[in-house]
Amino acid sequence: MNQPVRRQGDMVHVAPDAMQRLVTEIFACAGCSRTEAERVATRLTGANLRGHDSHGIIRTPRYVQWIEDGRVVPDQSVRIESDTDTIAIVDGRYGFGQTVGEQTVDIGIEKAKRHGVAVTALRNAGHLGRIGDWAERAAAAGVASIHMVNVRGSLIVAPFGGVDRRGSTSPFCCGIPLAGEEPVILDFATSLVAEGKALVALRGGKPLPDGALVTPDGQLTSDPSPLYGEVAPGRYPDPNNGPGALTCFGMHKGSGLNFFMEMFAGALTGSGTSAGASDTERRRFCNGMLSIYMALEFFHSDDWFAREVKDYIAFWKSARPTEPGGEVLVPGEKERRTMAARRRDGLPLAPMTWDDIVATARRVGMDEAAIEQALGGRP
Ligand code: NAD
Repeated sequence: MNQPVRRQGDMVHVAPDAMQRLVTEIFACAGCSRTEAERVATRLTGANLRGHDSHGIIRTPRYVQWIEDGRVVPDQSVRIESDTDTIAIVDGRYGFGQTVGEQTVDIGIEKAKRHGVAVTALRNAGHLGRIGDWAERAAAAGVASIHMVNVRGSLIVAPFGGVDRRGSTSPFCCGIPLAGEEPVILDFATSLVAEGKALVALRGGKPLPDGALVTPDGQLTSDPSPLYGEVAPGRYPDPNNGPGALTCFGMHKGSGLNFFMEMFAGALTGSGTSAGASDTERRRFCNGMLSIYMALEFFHSDDWFAREVKDYIAFWKSARPTEPGGEVLVPGEKERRTMAARRRDGLPLAPMTWDDIVATARRVGMDEAAIEQALGGRP
């Protein structure tokens, strides 16, 4: 892109590096060190680049609000609660997930490299963003990984067969490295759509699929508004406020997987489930994450694994498409293609999302000149 910001049709396109610089400045002005501001901006922009707008820069106003409310602590470091050769129980102490998630995954990688396998149990983490980032980080070190995540204090998903909110969007992610090639990464929320996708739809972006929500009277709908209810002027849409709920993907199977995210990421890590029957007040928001790491060299001393995986990928992709011109993809392939296109064409944003970012920049004290300087040109 020649200009940092370009309006095209009903969308705003922002060059990824310009977006990353602006979001870095916003977090630096909001109270993060420059290192952390860059880390958070890189992860958020990276989610947009990969097509996961729900976990990208749209989160900036909410993260800034969390700093202001004291719900997330800038420049925090994890505290190791328990440490063996293969298990680390880690308290994120409400630091930015982008920071404490990275620290925890690095502990897991290091243990797996020494002992073959490792488990990290992360509790009390700020929002960990796109979980695929953590499987990608492990894969870059030659480590296969599985990540199970819950969201304590977030009650926005109804279980299969139910109407009332009983859990969170609890993502599941796994990934394998592939010598000389991009890793294979599967990463999804166990709700039919991630909450951020409902937020994107509410802000005028991509519409939701049928049945993504259930209304309080049990009707399935694609309308995101039952999740948020009335949004007060000047406040950011809050999914805690609506009368409806998101649904789980895959009927009883996805609902069962969602339940087990609460067991592993919530109960086993010590972070806590999203809520409980005996609660008297809402639990404090955090992500819990249970991760398992396997260093490939402990399983195979030669390149057999990579050859077997590559051969299977070719077999998988050779399946005849259901539709003319269709194509069978492996996990992670869609994100890589989206990234190539968005590096070239910029990040497409609904105008309201872009306006929210600019308003947040002003709110943290950036004037027009500072915004223009961060973007590298006029917005
Ligand atoms: P999604 O429904 O877009 O599914 C993404 C996964 O499906 C990817 O692995 C992708 O490669 C694969 N995929 C997509 N299209 C495909 C196709 N045609 N063929 C084969 N594979 C395909 O993801 P989602 O449920 O909307 O989740 C979005 C993001 O939200 C994820 O990154 C997740 O980690 C994140 N999330 C985070 C939290 C949190 O609390 N931190 C909570 C929920 C979700």
